[in-house]
Amino acid sequence: MISFKDAYKKVLDLYQDFGHEQVLLESAMDRILAEDIVADRNFPPFNRATKDGIAINYDAIEKGLTTFKIEGVLAAGMPPQPLMDTSNCVEIMTGAVVPDNADTVVMYEHLVIENGSATLTKSPKRGQDIHVCGSDQQKGDLVLKKYSTITASEIGVLAAVGMASVKVRALPKVAIVSTGNELVEVEEIPLPHQIRKSNIHTLYSALFKVGIVPTKLHLPDEKSSMKKALDNTLQKHNAVLLSGGVSKGKFDFLPQVLEELGVEKIFHGVFQRPGKPFWFGIQRETNTVVFSFPGNPVSTFANYNVYFKDWLRRSLGIQIPKIDVILEEAVAVKGDLTMLLRVKIRFNQGHLSASLVKENGSGDLCSLVHTDGFIILEPKMDVYEVGELVPFVPTRDLL
Ligand code: AMP
Ligand code: MG
Repeated sequence: MISFKDAYKKVLDLYQDFGHEQVLLESAMDRILAEDIVADRNFPPFNRATKDGIAINYDAIEKGLTTFKIEGVLAAGMPPQPLMDTSNCVEIMTGAVVPDNADTVVMYEHLVIENGSATLTKSPKRGQDIHVCGSDQQKGDLVLKKYSTITASEIGVLAAVGMASVKVRALPKVAIVSTGNELVEVEEIPLPHQIRKSNIHTLYSALFKVGIVPTKLHLPDEKSSMKKALDNTLQKHNAVLLSGGVSKGKFDFLPQVLEELGVEKIFHGVFQRPGKPFWFGIQRETNTVVFSFPGNPVSTFANYNVYFKDWLRRSLGIQIPKIDVILEEAVAVKGDLTMLLRVKIRFNQGHLSASLVKENGSGDLCSLVHTDGFIILEPKMDVYEVGELVPFVPTRDLL
């Protein structure tokens, strides 16, 4: 048995590098960029009209002109065209290239257009309503940094610089494995002594949300078939997440089977609740990391969120968010176990505050429906007071 802090550190120390892959822009959402992206041209690439109206040369206004003969119309998408006479104007639409020898755009709302001429009804400022070439970014500027998370904002920038496909950090191949003779499929009507599998579906969905489509497997509580199936699974994946079969029961064969398969035990048992019998190891020859979670649904769920997610973040090279929340009620944590407590989060004058979820132990799957995440409380002599800041691991999007 080791402390929660040591266990967390040992898990993160075994981060892996899965390399990178090229994906189409449409599939790049939520992935981690594996290259710096520079602007392939200026942003904007030309002096761009930002209003519909006319383009003029301001010198003409300084000479006293307020009415300008209209030479023609420039629409967005037309090639650049200079004014033939800088005392004249050209009608120009938003997104069109401002003529080289014009420097000011006046919108229709400040003009009267009559008999082929435009007359100002309000005096403009030189340079107004032009988005100047290169004023946002210059060609060659770094517009996206390696290891950025690609969201809709980044997708737009990638599109603008011509990245039809992009290099992203590769995700691990993950297998999720349930164990237990009492478990039946979702579609089945369980016999009175059986229950439906839920952990595998929770894990599948959680992984799917971070872009990983895991392989699913179920093992009966029987040593030789466990060993055979796991041997194969370890070869083919970067990480194997097991649930159940790892405690002290007569049929909890996993620790022994894993060690027989050459998976080096890093630790078995953590001073924490829920999730205490957590077994963690690595098969060195394949570099496959094994997270063997106790089967109670809240134990599996807590350990996945607390350990696996940060292991994945570290492996992908992204920052691990550190979130604190304000306690809404006093909590006593005596003894030697770090408590991972289910909480409901509320936005309280710009801060996140947490109240404990009513629950019935680590088997109480339904309590997770009311849970926004876990607060992590180390044991201490004094109680955790109302208003105290404590570390928080979210298990759902809070906004
Ligand atoms: P174990 O860790 O195998 O001793 O399992 C602890 C408890 O969790 C037992 O009551 C199991 O029936 C339950 N359990 C194990 N695996 C699952 C699963 N995949 N879905 C739901 N409950 C499970
Ligand atoms: Mg079991």
